[in-house]
Amino acid sequence: MVMQQFEAESKRLLDLMINSIYSKREVFLRELISNASDAIDKMYYKALTDDSITFNQSDYYIKIDVDKEKRQLTITDTGIGMTKEELATNLGVIAKSGSLAFKNENEIKDGHDIIGQFGVGFYAAFMVADSVTVKSKAHGADQAYQWYSEGAEGYTIEPCDKETVGTTIILTIKENEEDEDYDQYLETYRLQSIIKKYSDFIRYPIKMEMSEQKLKEGSKDEYETVIEEKTINSMVPIWKKNKTELTDEDYVKFYEEKHYGFDQPLTHIHISVDGNIRYQAILYIPETAPFNYYSAEYEKGLELYSNGVLIMNKASELLPDHFSFVKGLVDSEDLSLNISREMLQHDRQLSLIEKNLTRKIKQELLKMLRNDRGKYEKFYKAFGRQLKFGVYNNFGQNKDDLQDLLLFYSSTEKKLVSLAEYVERMKEGQEVIYYATGETNARIERLPQTEMVQEKGFEILYLTEDIDEFAIKMLNEYKGKTFKSVSSGDLDLNDEQDEKEEKLTDEEKNLFDQMKEVLKDKVTDVRRSKRLKSHPVCLTNEGEISIEMEKVLSMMPD
Ligand code: ADP
Ligand code: MG
Repeated sequence: MVMQQFEAESKRLLDLMINSIYSKREVFLRELISNASDAIDKMYYKALTDDSITFNQSDYYIKIDVDKEKRQLTITDTGIGMTKEELATNLGVIAKSGSLAFKNENEIKDGHDIIGQFGVGFYAAFMVADSVTVKSKAHGADQAYQWYSEGAEGYTIEPCDKETVGTTIILTIKENEEDEDYDQYLETYRLQSIIKKYSDFIRYPIKMEMSEQKLKEGSKDEYETVIEEKTINSMVPIWKKNKTELTDEDYVKFYEEKHYGFDQPLTHIHISVDGNIRYQAILYIPETAPFNYYSAEYEKGLELYSNGVLIMNKASELLPDHFSFVKGLVDSEDLSLNISREMLQHDRQLSLIEKNLTRKIKQELLKMLRNDRGKYEKFYKAFGRQLKFGVYNNFGQNKDDLQDLLLFYSSTEKKLVSLAEYVERMKEGQEVIYYATGETNARIERLPQTEMVQEKGFEILYLTEDIDEFAIKMLNEYKGKTFKSVSSGDLDLNDEQDEKEEKLTDEEKNLFDQMKEVLKDKVTDVRRSKRLKSHPVCLTNEGEISIEMEKVLSMMPD
């Protein structure tokens, strides 16, 4: 038997592959299972055009076996198999993808189910294995062949015994090293969790024998170890199902299974888009903010799948910052993945999806505001602050997304109201949206500045969070109405006009001069006011920065 050398480039590539392409060793299993699934898909496509093949769903599966003694992990599929030549070209030449060629040759337009395209995934096996044996019998062939390699040095191919069509891949798992635990890849529970994580939605059953402690028959307290073959993966992802097949409970259950949060989601959004870019998404609006939500530690992002295979845990590009609280996932066939399938080539598609999702999230929140006020207020309590940060941070882009989602406490309604509701109620002749700032509603209520405005029957929005006024200033106007603080110097209440011009009596002038003398650096001016009712005095400000904003700014580190 002659040992075939990998081509020179392949040798170097293989080294690179084993050592640096993947960030986690555990993905070798994802790659081998994806190949097995592709091989079964190919049988499926063959059956579509070849009447002599009947595709019996139950004949097709992927089987995982563990032999701890021999340190062997085996992945068997009932797919299309490989001929001797295919073993040599597909496994002997790195970056050669038989699957990509299959898609092209068969002109499978809708071939986006087939996962392989780069021709490197297979070699991920060498991240955890000292040697790899591939036994394969191709569909329509009489003889099976065995490919064997211990890594970069090369491979051998020879005839072998194999009854059924398909492929069996046997990995001899490495011995543990000081800082690397390889034994884990021989533990069925660990393998189960890797399969669940990356390959849960592979469309064919992934079976494994699992041992379980069960009550002995007829006994109440005696257990025995039973070995049972189990299907590990869920197969049909919930997001590929039709909305009409699913209940609210199904979505809540999925939220819990995915550990998106410890809370219950307030609502979910299930999207299926078949346009320029095809994708499905399930998004959740949580009920409560995670403990680290308003800190730098919080990482936004959605899970990203390509054809049911997990690519990224947190794709941050899929969500704008102001909707960073949204949980869920996106699955798309149309992503250009990079070679490790952990990252994306370029983000044009992602930004298209992001735009689309942002619009849907906004619509969903507006719907909640209209139809279920109590729920929306719960949401707003948890995440309203983030919306206001959104207005403040990227005002140009976010204004349209966010202005209708804001709520503030109203002096007349005694509850949270939206800007639209305020403007709707504006009195004839009222030009501006009045607001007042302070630490609490009760404190604002007692401000001398609010009295006159209220007296005139105008509604005032109470801003009690430090971000509020910054956000309002950024908004500048809502539906053509500008915002005005009740503390600003030039409050447009009609009879205020003559404050400045009206001549002061000598006595008044004297008093004001003395007050200015005492308050010196603390005030710019002291003057007579008509805005006061029951209070003797109040503070107003002239410039853009209000007294409350000054307080916030002075607390910020330089
Ligand atoms: P990719 O899946 O991106 O094509 P891989 O390195 O994972 O690259 O696999 C290389 C090729 O080997 C595949 O394209 C396929 O033609 C072939 N192959 C790998 N595993 C199997 C398998 N289990 N059954 C049939 N063919 C396989
Ligand atoms: Mg592959």
